[in-house]
Amino acid sequence: MKKKESEKPRYSMWQCCAWMAGFAWSRKEKKVLVLCLLQAVLAVFSNLVNLYLAPAILSAVERRASFGELLTVIFGFVGALMICSAASAYVNANALYGRVTVRTAILGEINRKCCTTSYPNLMEDRFSKLKSRARSCTQNNREPTEAVWNTLSKLLQNVAGFVIYMCLLATLDGRLMAAILVTALLGYFVNKRLAVYEYRNREEGGKLNGKIWYQLDMGGRQDIAKDIRIFGMKPWIDEITQKAITAYRAFRRRINNVQIWGGILDLVLTFLRNGLAYLILIRLVLAESMSVSAFLLYFSAVGGFSARVNGILEKMTTLYRQCLDLSSVMEFLEYPEPFRFEEGEHLELSPDQGHELKLDHVSYRYPGAKEDTLTDICLTIRPGEKIAVVGKNGAGKTTLVKLICGLFDPTKGRVLLDGRDIRVYNRREYYAQFAAVFQEFSLLAGTIAANVTQTEEGQDMSRIEECVKKAGLEEKISSLKDGYETYLNRRVYEDGTELSGGETQKLMLARALYKNAAFFILDEPTAALDPIAEADMYGKYDQMTKGRSAVYISHRLASTRFCDRILLLDGHRISEEGSHEELLELGGMYAGLFALQSRYYQEKSDEWHSGNEAGCYGTDLDVSGAHGQEGGAHEHR
Ligand code: ADP
Repeated sequence: MKKKESEKPRYSMWQCCAWMAGFAWSRKEKKVLVLCLLQAVLAVFSNLVNLYLAPAILSAVERRASFGELLTVIFGFVGALMICSAASAYVNANALYGRVTVRTAILGEINRKCCTTSYPNLMEDRFSKLKSRARSCTQNNREPTEAVWNTLSKLLQNVAGFVIYMCLLATLDGRLMAAILVTALLGYFVNKRLAVYEYRNREEGGKLNGKIWYQLDMGGRQDIAKDIRIFGMKPWIDEITQKAITAYRAFRRRINNVQIWGGILDLVLTFLRNGLAYLILIRLVLAESMSVSAFLLYFSAVGGFSARVNGILEKMTTLYRQCLDLSSVMEFLEYPEPFRFEEGEHLELSPDQGHELKLDHVSYRYPGAKEDTLTDICLTIRPGEKIAVVGKNGAGKTTLVKLICGLFDPTKGRVLLDGRDIRVYNRREYYAQFAAVFQEFSLLAGTIAANVTQTEEGQDMSRIEECVKKAGLEEKISSLKDGYETYLNRRVYEDGTELSGGETQKLMLARALYKNAAFFILDEPTAALDPIAEADMYGKYDQMTKGRSAVYISHRLASTRFCDRILLLDGHRISEEGSHEELLELGGMYAGLFALQSRYYQEKSDEWHSGNEAGCYGTDLDVSGAHGQEGGAHEHR
């Protein structure tokens, strides 16, 4: 019961319609609203012409009108119909452009929200659910962000028709209209309940469908293609896919059954309504001996009135369904932002002047987690200081970096920049003070130059070249036909290129250098690198960021021994702190781990030596990382 309540849409049907109208207005697409109205007016006019066409001709025949008069009536009506349909075609074609523009503008807003929302929102289930609903609402012309205009226009057209037919039939038996209204209203409530039922089950349907597509996608995935072949995973994938399909079918059957019963009830009501109406009308005609043309007019009017009532209810049901989706779009776009952006204080730092970052008794607990990932962290990163954060997997290194970068706010404590709580600043401007290389690469399908500068316009070529050279990627780029203008990502650009892990790593480094920020962060981008290459890169980074504060993260302790200070994270806290030598002397966990890793790499190195006399791998694998710092390391793949 509680679950269903939380599924209730936040915005009413009318709020959603008003929002759509306001959105179109604000995007200077007022013509969408005007054309909507015009479509309805033309449709009503065309209906009226159709309604009076046959009775008018019949009436002319009844009163034995002249041939000329008859022709005038016929051509008058046919001419009016032709003008109507030509005008409708013109309006419909024009209406489409504005509607597509509005839909794509909404899609643009959704994408903007996805890219700029406060980082913690991305971890929230509700946010993800609303995001996928909002996206599916803008996928094509049939989705509510575009189809709603058609519904509104049709609704308007039905309401206008309803009023006209009601005026026409008002002179007849009141029971007639009552019968039509009552049965149609019943139909509306049936349809509305169906819409609510479907809305509540949509999430489940989406999940089940998602599972099927995930499984179907497995077969084509390059990252697991080797395992699929070696382990003969195909039958297993088929089994799981089949299970997912069976579950989805059972779900669809349940929904279809409800829909079928709803449809049958609707049909019975329509049959009753029309049957009753025609019965009353025929009795009236017989009793009052109407003219044939009047009978024809009323006969069509009853059908028309019934169709309008039905139309109103059907369009209301459609509108209700569409507004359930639109409500999700609105809710997503208005999803609360815990961070301050433009409303925060302006922040502009001069990267060359040293700046101090301080974590003041900071604790952080992930939403829904039972315990803190980090507890009571006190840390001051002094201007120009190089700090290393080391620790086992899961110790909280990345979490610490995210707190420093302002991607998370502490659950307790404060992060201070030059003594001021970072929460007061415009968070986007705070991010601008950091250049980071994270574990996951974020190359976009653009040119190499654009991936360094993160923009298509105003690229400073000499700076790009300088940064690429420092990052050690110059040779690779000069080997490419189009050099810096080479496109990355072959899936998007046929003549594009793909960089290896290590090369991508260097490109990310060049990007960080190009940004020229006050703080540098290197968060364990080790997946693509061997220990020597990693140490080499850390060393390079160190040289290139002289005078700037930097935080280096690694689980390979040797890579960061050059840092001014090393922090060992363990048990949610900074358990050891000092220079490499100090920590070795301390003889604690750091010293233990260092010895263990050194031994491990030494063994690996020995194994390699004995098995590979040719020595295509680095022959002097120096696990202490000193080798790398001396610039002697190479990238090995
Ligand atoms: P490290 O970088 O040292 O490997 P992380 O900072 O990534 O560690 O993670 C620290 C701990 O926080 C881990 O136990 C991890 O499971 C947990 N954690 C990380 N991300 C989330 C999340 N989004 N929700 C809940 N727990 C998380």
